[in-house]
Amino acid sequence: MNGGQRLDGKVALVTGAASGIGLAIAQAYAAAGCAVAVADLNRPGADAAAGAIAAAGGRAIGMAMDVTDEAQVEAGFDACTAAFGGIDIVVSNAGIQIVKPVHEFSFEEWRRMIGIHLDGAFLCTRAALRRMYAAGRGGCVLYMGSVHSKEASALKGPYVAAKHALVGLAKTVAKEGGPHGVRTNVICPGFVKTPLVLAQIPELARRHGLSEDEVVRTIMLKDTVDNVFTTVEDVAQTALFLAGFPTDALTGQSVIVSHGWHME
Ligand code: NAD
Repeated sequence: MNGGQRLDGKVALVTGAASGIGLAIAQAYAAAGCAVAVADLNRPGADAAAGAIAAAGGRAIGMAMDVTDEAQVEAGFDACTAAFGGIDIVVSNAGIQIVKPVHEFSFEEWRRMIGIHLDGAFLCTRAALRRMYAAGRGGCVLYMGSVHSKEASALKGPYVAAKHALVGLAKTVAKEGGPHGVRTNVICPGFVKTPLVLAQIPELARRHGLSEDEVVRTIMLKDTVDNVFTTVEDVAQTALFLAGFPTDALTGQSVIVSHGWHME
């Protein structure tokens, strides 16, 4: 599936790209002609993803990057620039989930969630903006938000807090980046069947006293218009559309791709 958008001559860095949504975005960007740095905590996974992209005729490198580690983020952006001659698109996508009520979270778990989702977004944003401003050729920074950037669910306190915060960061970056030709948007998917979601279904079932089927029907898909999961391809096509959008008209926005779970 490709909406026809092309990214020929562009360079992208995608975090959390060894799996799930990030992997699909890396593949879609490469298929659209973009050189891609596949960055992930999971180095073998990143290398495998980059290898598969190269085998399919695309340009990609894999790299180890913990988005909470300032030195690793800076080194990854430098390696991307060295390999491909610049950086035009950054997708801050790496994420995890921990499911439990707020009063049961340890401070360490809270900090881990905020560290990956929010500190990681900051470190990648700053690394991107410094390089994009210096190169003077504009750019695009995308954040992987969620429907949980717009509304809450029980048992997901730090996730909901961090995903809401990304919208504020993006609006600020839109204002600061505008004069430099840097656009930014937040992608807000509904539930997508990735390891992150599959891992939380048993815990949600236990906590809510439901079967796993009931979790899917009565929680995850309850408010969709058609009882259908969003797919990694749906999200990747949204990321492709936003990265390839030709003007600065579309910036500072949240694009919700959720089968109508959340409507604005
Ligand atoms: P996933 O588990 O399939 O992939 C997440 C990737 O992030 C993994 O490859 C993992 O190794 C990597 N990662 C984790 N911590 C990292 C770190 N510190 N540094 C670098 N990489 C790290 O999950 P996914 O569902 O594809 O999630 C990707 C993003 O999409 C997350 O931000 C998630 O919150 C968001 N999202 C997912 C859904 C969904 O339903 N799956 C919905 C909305 C938003």
